[in-house]
Amino acid sequence: MLKVRSAATALAILTALSVLPLSASQAGSPARGLHLTKEKSTSNAASVGASDGIGAVNYIMGGPIVANPNSYVIWYGNWDSQSCTPTPGSDSTASIINDLVTNIGDSPWNNINATYYQIIKGIRTFVSPSIKYSGCVVDSGSVGLSLDGSTGPQVSDVVNHVLNSNLLPKDPNGVYLVLTSSNVNVNGFLTNFCGYHSFTANDSSKILYAFVGDPSASLGSCVSQVLRSPNNNPAADGMASVLAHELAEPISDPYFTSWFDQSGLENADKCSWKYGDVIQGANGSFSNMELGGRKFLIQQNVPAHSNKCVSSVALSDQNGSGPKK
Ligand SMILES: [Zn+2]
Repeated sequence: MLKVRSAATALAILTALSVLPLSASQAGSPARGLHLTKEKSTSNAASVGASDGIGAVNYIMGGPIVANPNSYVIWYGNWDSQSCTPTPGSDSTASIINDLVTNIGDSPWNNINATYYQIIKGIRTFVSPSIKYSGCVVDSGSVGLSLDGSTGPQVSDVVNHVLNSNLLPKDPNGVYLVLTSSNVNVNGFLTNFCGYHSFTANDSSKILYAFVGDPSASLGSCVSQVLRSPNNNPAADGMASVLAHELAEPISDPYFTSWFDQSGLENADKCSWKYGDVIQGANGSFSNMELGGRKFLIQQNVPAHSNKCVSSVALSDQNGSGPKK
């Protein structure tokens, strides 16, 4: 049904890039703390709609969650200067992603995040079922157009530059989504991974950020529907699903000390490229949810203590997901 092209080297890459959670003592080393959305593999493609996780995602190390998350978008590279205020309803990447980030935070899909909690000093606090979209900036390339090499500027430098220039507030509850245009080279993107999240030190704060790139240069590596997509923009529709993945993970596992499974996979990792029930639209593409009047094909996620990929949960499920003793 959903044709997913395989990447020849994906299996080798999956092994090479498996990233285990960092211990708290390793905090502040973002280059080692990247949590990657792997490139699609044949095995992933075969399991579209299935739920074959290795084990439940559990509260492993007692670290924090982000109880009241906010999201921010940094359009980086040669995006339109109006990308933060795009024309509503257009097929542009900015318009599609804007509809995603302004609506996914209060969606049934995001209720899955609200099953996660922290227990700090004996007090259990759940994640709010809402992510507030809180700011946006366009940066045409202030730290350069080649990022994440062994030397030179990193995606985290983009975030720190934006914050240190007071273009967005420094928000310890924020997840800063760095969306690079197709002319920005991010080392490993499209060959090793489709996105990642991490954190970076800024003054006394640890700032959460995620990277998602425009996959136009190799759509088949990171996009499930390369020919027809819900919003007639396969690159943007593919970015939307990766963005949802990278937005979910830092909320339940911000510093890699909170929620993951026995093999180190975070919640959204277990559902990469899985969409559950889909419907076919007039243009032949598939979608599984509607956000802000648009159809999207967004990967599933797992609730706390579960290894089953789902597209939504009822909010009442939150209180039923206590720790298993
Ligand atoms: Zn991930």
